Amino acid sequence: MHPADKRAWRWWLGGLLGLGALGYAGLYVRHWAHLARYREGFVLSACPICEAGHLHLEERRYRLLGIPRVRRVVRCDVCRSVLREVGTRRWRYAVDGAENPALYDALNGRVLSEDELLRMAPEYAAVQYVEDEEL
Ligand SMILES: [Zn+2]
Repeated sequence: MHPADKRAWRWWLGGLLGLGALGYAGLYVRHWAHLARYREGFVLSACPICEAGHLHLEERRYRLLGIPRVRRVVRCDVCRSVLREVGTRRWRYAVDGAENPALYDALNGRVLSEDELLRMAPEYAAVQYVEDEEL
């Protein structure tokens, strides 16, 4: 190989490594921000399914290739409805069919955004909620 070609290869390699490092740093920051969410608790506290129970957020933290990750599950302490976090502000509902057959049909296995969850929440039904209240 010509010495000039060799130098070009090094530039390419350096550039690729630099891009990789930037991508990694971006992912790290994104997941770190995700980790900080819900520090004040879940967006709902009352259970929309049974309207009697309280919702409790459970977090399991782990690292994937050094990047901090978290798995979140929200459980009701009265019925056994469970919300699993499947994306950013997106949750999959597992509704207890015995407690609320109508909502079981409507919601079980469905992925809901937090806005949709807030809209069906008993505690916010009468109150107009402000979007992006964390600002
Ligand atoms: Zn419940």
